[in-house]
Amino acid sequence: MANRQTLQQQLKNLEGRSYREYKGIKGNYEFPDFSLIVDHVQGDPFAAPSRIRIKLPQAVAQFPPDGLTHYGTQVAIADYLTRQVVQVAQSLCKKRGSGKSGHIHISAPSPAILRRTAMWIDANEIEARLTVGLPALGRRIAGYEAAALLCEDIPQLVARTLTYQALDQRALIHHVQTFEDAEALRGQLARHNLVTFIAAGACLPRQSGIDERPLRDQAALFVPPEAHCLELETVHNGRIKGLGIQKGVSLIVGGGYHGKSTLLRAIEQGIYNHVPGDGREQVVTETNAVKLRAEDGRSVVGVNISAVINHLPQGRQSDHFSTTNASGSTSQAAGLMEAIEAGAGAIFIDEDTAATNFMIRDHNMQALISKDKEPITPFVDKVRQLYDEQAISTILVMGGSGDYFAVADTVIAMQDYQPQVVTQQAKAIAQADGNRRQPEGGQRFGEITPRAVLADSLPVGKKDRPLKIKARPEMLMLGYEEVDLRAVEQIVEVHQIRAIAHAIRYAQQYYFDGQRSLSSVLDNVMEDIRLGSLDVLSHGIGSDGSDSSEKTNTRLWGDLAEFRRFELAAAINRLRTLKTQPLWL
Ligand code: ADP
Ligand code: MG
Repeated sequence: MANRQTLQQQLKNLEGRSYREYKGIKGNYEFPDFSLIVDHVQGDPFAAPSRIRIKLPQAVAQFPPDGLTHYGTQVAIADYLTRQVVQVAQSLCKKRGSGKSGHIHISAPSPAILRRTAMWIDANEIEARLTVGLPALGRRIAGYEAAALLCEDIPQLVARTLTYQALDQRALIHHVQTFEDAEALRGQLARHNLVTFIAAGACLPRQSGIDERPLRDQAALFVPPEAHCLELETVHNGRIKGLGIQKGVSLIVGGGYHGKSTLLRAIEQGIYNHVPGDGREQVVTETNAVKLRAEDGRSVVGVNISAVINHLPQGRQSDHFSTTNASGSTSQAAGLMEAIEAGAGAIFIDEDTAATNFMIRDHNMQALISKDKEPITPFVDKVRQLYDEQAISTILVMGGSGDYFAVADTVIAMQDYQPQVVTQQAKAIAQADGNRRQPEGGQRFGEITPRAVLADSLPVGKKDRPLKIKARPEMLMLGYEEVDLRAVEQIVEVHQIRAIAHAIRYAQQYYFDGQRSLSSVLDNVMEDIRLGSLDVLSHGIGSDGSDSSEKTNTRLWGDLAEFRRFELAAAINRLRTLKTQPLWL
């Protein structure tokens, strides 16, 4: 059995040899406290780094076993451990040669607590998946440096981050309890008929548009209006006061720059649990809520948008609408119908990122352009039916038009970053207005047509090789096909994008058959992941990318994070190679 000494010796013997000879260290090594598994060795110093796994038995790690009986708690602990590894790995990173020689890396998390393949903990062991830059001098092996990296740095990292004794246990417990409290709060939403709950004292604004850290010093902390305060129960912190937004049609209104978008953004991110200190730890939202925005230029394939758009120019069909270049309104119509198809329970829209003509059509415009000349039925005439017929709630930021007052159940006004409930006033204004607008929404919401995804919906790999998958922030690539995900605002980590890319390939391999509805494909993929973890996504891919499934364990990626069916659907729907077929009921 290879152990730490043999690995050390082996690496030293490689000193000065050609970099390719590193390939020989692939395999398992029994270190005194843990197993080190070298899964993949990089081909040269500048290639993607080498992948290793560490398996640490609980006999050494010594986490209290009663904390490891709940899935959620395991997720929270693993998330905490990942963050510790990020920090300590940074301090251990030494320059051990050219390029990335000596780097130790684990997939860095966002402020959301997510299940990731980088780390897992159960009653038996902890498994951490890291990448390392195997040291080189030029193109030669720096064997002594490699021995120091793998046989000294890594054991130090393990000792400092993965054993219970070495950790700040109070911080760990706080992390876990924060997660459990958020879960408990979210678990009470349905009972109180709520879409979302924002706790008193929450810090909603972020540092900047590109920095997800909380705005600390200048932030006005959230104060729920006294008369509309609600109390929910936590597990570890007693009863918590906050503002609950009921199911139905809700508006967030208020002057410009008074915090409307910031509130909605926190609400849409409330589908995730957040780390202590984030400010949104107790902002919780039902997990099937989908943020929608206009996205002109996107591709749409075979979506029945006739519920909201009809009689397009040049006789273009709206009951299976396709375009390679959607307009603002058609992109939003497609996004709405796709979200419904995927099973959304709530829709969030911000006027800042919505197509005006999709949202409103006021009485003056109705007088000038008759209904038969306007393909779009504005959302204001559909939003009620969406809730009454489909039980899909809506939260809208709408500071620029009062037309929604008539159809809203709740109106919240933001003033100086604080909410007031102004439903009564808004309703009175709508009534006094005498309904000058003509409702244009008809009797029913309209048709929702499921689609089947055809088998040849993905680009083909080069020379029949499997598709190359790449993930970048806000974009994924399948072969040469780019899928722009900038408009999919509830994706928070590139690791989710990578997982989604693999999930698309997986769905194509097992479920895109031209028969199954997209919604049942999503069911299938999500269920497979639930039962087999994100590692199921590597099924059917060999270590060299070939399709032989023999060597799958070398495909245990450490850079995937959990995602929802809605984001998977969003990525599939944006594939420009997608082919669908309506499943008329
Ligand atoms: P609106 O959508 O009403 O125009 P935003 O939500 O975009 O306003 O907020 C305007 C600015 O105020 C943003 O820079 C945001 O970061 C900041 N902001 C929002 N909420 C708060 C708050 N509670 N405390 C301090 N600053 C805030
Ligand atoms: Mg705004």
